[in-house]
Amino acid sequence: MNTSTTTQQTDIKSLLKTHFGYDDFLANQEEIINNVLDQHDTIAIMPTGGGKSLCFQLPALAMQGTAIVLSPLIALMKDQVDSLKANGIAASFYNSSQHYEEQQEVLRNLQDETLKLLYVAPESLPQLIFILKSVKISLFAVDEAHCISSWGHDFRPAYMQLKSLKEQFPDVPLIALTATADRPTREDIAAQLAIPNAETFIASFDRPNLYLDVRPGQNRNRQILSFLAKRGNQSGIIYCLSRKSTEKLADTLKSKGYKAEAYHAGLSSEERSEIQENFVNDRTPIIVATIAFGMGIDKSNVRWVIHYNMPKNIEGYYQEIGRSGRDGLASHTILFYSFADVIMLRKFAEGTETEAYQLAKLERMQQYAEALSCRRKALLGYFGEHITEDCGNCDICKTPPKYFDGTLIAQKVCSAVARLQEQEALGMVLDVLRGAQNAQVYDKGYQHIKTFGAAKDISWRDLQQYVIQLLNQGILQIYFHENGRLLLTPLAKKVLFENKKVRLANVLQETEIVKTDKAE
Ligand code: ADP
Ligand code: ZN
Repeated sequence: MNTSTTTQQTDIKSLLKTHFGYDDFLANQEEIINNVLDQHDTIAIMPTGGGKSLCFQLPALAMQGTAIVLSPLIALMKDQVDSLKANGIAASFYNSSQHYEEQQEVLRNLQDETLKLLYVAPESLPQLIFILKSVKISLFAVDEAHCISSWGHDFRPAYMQLKSLKEQFPDVPLIALTATADRPTREDIAAQLAIPNAETFIASFDRPNLYLDVRPGQNRNRQILSFLAKRGNQSGIIYCLSRKSTEKLADTLKSKGYKAEAYHAGLSSEERSEIQENFVNDRTPIIVATIAFGMGIDKSNVRWVIHYNMPKNIEGYYQEIGRSGRDGLASHTILFYSFADVIMLRKFAEGTETEAYQLAKLERMQQYAEALSCRRKALLGYFGEHITEDCGNCDICKTPPKYFDGTLIAQKVCSAVARLQEQEALGMVLDVLRGAQNAQVYDKGYQHIKTFGAAKDISWRDLQQYVIQLLNQGILQIYFHENGRLLLTPLAKKVLFENKKVRLANVLQETEIVKTDKAE
């Protein structure tokens, strides 16, 4: 370590203590901060609650000039700025919710170079470019950077304004932050923001203290009551799809003597904050809620989360189960899986602008629910994190299905994906492996590639199941931004070139599938 890094490190440690009151960095914060201080473009991927804000707030303090923070939620800007000011940091925000005079004052402060941080709504950025060119900018931070991806579940047209930032300010380091980590999203962010050489830091998404449990969605009420019978007064959240079902279930629980409240967007804001407060203070241990509940709630001892209905994508599922066990103690999560929910969620997605994308994400969620290998592997693999060992803390690890050696099948599948240049979706990969003689295959000349027909002895359905298992084992990944093409992960390279063993489970029998599909 040379002297300048040493100095840098002592400096940032003391800033951490004096301005934020913390003794130590959370995972990856220090590396990210040093990268920004070294003037490099950076992509920081961290789960919600991982401490992203500090990654640009602290460099903003250590560097000369004003840091410009692009943030999508005008509603949250004021809170963030207020809490910085409370820590004695000169910060302000600029957006369309302000009066003309307020905006002018912010601009004066910007010109006087008295601000360390200025939060700006992306749609307001064009109005500021001229002034920004005339003052010293320390860094640009693009928060919720996945919003720039036009296929994303959270696309914001205003983020298009950020595409030319790097061109206009080539010498100012840019840091993009998000909690959406799959490789395609990362690549899209780097491309859209024109930061091809950005260094990417991915913090672990693993929450080893959460037990992952997926159960067939039959007799859900009875299953919940028997689960609660052993839970005493523990705090927990039950997520439902509809307002009506939150109320119905809360009534059922109350009639059995539990302290439970329904929570959804149809309640007045007074009612909602009262319910939240009672939950946070342990007066109402059980909340039955729509997904409206949980954002911004800081409660560390939530001991369990139940999904009464299947979430519409893995991002939502991960975020919701993540509200339990923040204190690091063992917590239980249950997902009830029913095919009736899948049908309903499909209907919600149909006709929307991003229908194909939403359906692909839903299908991936369904595949997770049907996983035959370690759930944590599947969950983390989805976020681009590939663990080699099974977790031992999920329902599949507890009661595994019967496995056989599927190494050869996995090699054939990975080899086909590679020979198709990672350009094709599941259907075509299956067609090629099974040697299908159809027009799409012949149009592209795929009958000539080496793996054509390599798995023709396996039925279409079985093979499809095996590929889904490879997705769940993190050996393959789906590129949701295009046609849902299959990609190889680093684990696939091990399968292809290092003879890594792969276990596959026998495909579910028809009768078992019918059984789990039946609605209550
Ligand atoms: P994110 O934006 O990634 O969801 P935040 O930046 O809001 O996360 O931080 C999450 C929480 O962690 C906040 O309460 C923050 O104050 C806290 N935090 C951030 N960095 C540290 C640290 N180094 N030590 C302890 N707590 C931290
Ligand atoms: Zn497991």
